[in-house]
Amino acid sequence: MCGIVGYIGEKKAKPILINGLLRLEYRGYDSAGIATVEKNSIINVKNKGRVSELENIEAINSLEGTIGIGHTRWATHGKPSSNNSHPHMDNSNTFSVVHNGIIENYADLREFLKSHGYTFFSETDTEVIPNLIHFYFKDSVETEDKKFLKAVVDACNMLKGSFAIEVLSSHYPDNMLVVRKDSPLVIGKGNSENYISSDIPAILSFTKDFYLLNDFEFAFMS
Ligand code: GLU
Repeated sequence: MCGIVGYIGEKKAKPILINGLLRLEYRGYDSAGIATVEKNSIINVKNKGRVSELENIEAINSLEGTIGIGHTRWATHGKPSSNNSHPHMDNSNTFSVVHNGIIENYADLREFLKSHGYTFFSETDTEVIPNLIHFYFKDSVETEDKKFLKAVVDACNMLKGSFAIEVLSSHYPDNMLVVRKDSPLVIGKGNSENYISSDIPAILSFTKDFYLLNDFEFAFMS
């Protein structure tokens, strides 16, 4: 189990993500991390340890972005470590993903991706997800507005197991994609903003208007 949180709107994302993660620590607390969209790149800050320790990492102070994702981990694949902490990025540093759940066929997917030149830097099942998204994105013939969603749908179609995921892309600095299958994920609606979380209490102080995502339902937010 682990907790994921997200924010997309006009406020600075970092304090909202930290607030949510602190409330989700009951779901897991061996590592924590956040990623925000900074201009046109994504900055990941993560480490082994609790959310309070994440706040002590120097790099977190420079995060100004208004779109971000966060994760507090309870490891299922790979020990608690900086490399195994979420968010995980693909080899091109284009896609950043947080994940709650277990990808049962991750070993096969890893071999498949390795045979296409991908390298892995963690022991997690999760790291196949951003790389699969990149795999489908790079040769996509879809129009620019559909490419991101299509690549995430194609990647998720390959996954066996359970997942609630949030995805950021540096190609789409105004968007976030989320989807769930057999792991919880709710969207809290605000005015010109959305909050995403593994559970309602973590974002209850920001909104009382919730949408419970159905299994294999994708939300493309801007
Ligand atoms: N399976 C992922 C990992 O081990 C996510 C863990 C979880 O959902 O608790 O990193």
